[in-house]
Amino acid sequence: MADVPSECNIKVLCRFRPLNQSEILRGDQFVPKFQADDTVIVGGKSYVFDRVFPTNTTQEQVYNTCAKQIVKDVLCGYNGTIFAYGQTSSGKTHTMEGKLHDPHQMGIIPRIAEDIFNHIFAMDENLEFHIKVSYFEIYMDKIRDLLDVTKTNLSVHEDKNRVPYVKGCTERFVSSPDEVMDVIDEGKANRHVAVTNMNEHSSRSHSIFLINIKQEHVETEQKLCGKLYLVDLAGSEKVSKTGAAGAVLDEAKNINKSLSALGNVISALAEGTKSHVPYRDSKMTRILQDSLGGNCRTTMFICCSPSSYNDAETKSTLMFGQRAK
Ligand code: ADP
Ligand code: MG
Repeated sequence: MADVPSECNIKVLCRFRPLNQSEILRGDQFVPKFQADDTVIVGGKSYVFDRVFPTNTTQEQVYNTCAKQIVKDVLCGYNGTIFAYGQTSSGKTHTMEGKLHDPHQMGIIPRIAEDIFNHIFAMDENLEFHIKVSYFEIYMDKIRDLLDVTKTNLSVHEDKNRVPYVKGCTERFVSSPDEVMDVIDEGKANRHVAVTNMNEHSSRSHSIFLINIKQEHVETEQKLCGKLYLVDLAGSEKVSKTGAAGAVLDEAKNINKSLSALGNVISALAEGTKSHVPYRDSKMTRILQDSLGGNCRTTMFICCSPSSYNDAETKSTLMFGQRAK
């Protein structure tokens, strides 16, 4: 089987995107000061992570430093989760997906798809693989299947081993990276259809791509399962209480609640004590329960804007990441 699994279970990585055109035109300052490869200084304060990626880091570098090993581990039977956290427009989707069909600009998910099949082709011929993927989003605490638009409110159940799962969610068997990409394209197209403004919608919902890998030895019938959740979180920005009302405020409260539930789970896990981990406080943490903490591989990307204009959000994003350390 594949290499020895990695040691540390929760990794927090911080990535800053470059200033964009409108920030440059507005004359925004470039705020972060990068020190060594694990420290960034913002507003005179140092933030230390497992790794800090400055703005010029390529998609390939990001993948090689942090996702590559997780793929190996999942093929060894471990579960894992990779998240992207940050305000809208901080680079979450760029990191998780990137430009899907562009070999240089593609993000973690398409690279994982390629890597999985490359590993499989190099492994023992007596191993039979069954790989299936699901793609869903959580919006206003409702789980929507992105591969079947008729399923708009799925629920979380537990199987006979008390492992939580999304009941009735479409599962697609895939046998090549291209098939994985087709599923992503299909899910994204469905996501567009259901909403009027995709940018707004994606900033207010969590999208979750699940890769499930089962392998069985044809002679010994020995089985091994691993799964990997890839999560592009809703934007973490605060909505001002005065500016927002009605539906927008409800959405904001909902996102806030689910992101703080996630933060609480991650920080309980990071403390490493046997203390209570509040998985049950949100649908997302319930779903991820057996893929977060313990023996699982958890990686959190903390995505930040470098612009002085976003200073307050950037600090709050960095603080969220620090809670996991
Ligand atoms: P989010 O998903 O957090 O809302 P996006 O990933 O959509 O943000 O990023 C916003 C914009 O910034 C996109 O046009 C994206 O291509 C660009 N961008 C984000 N991160 C980077 C990066 N590291 N390098 C270059 N462009 C980036
Ligand atoms: Mg996005």
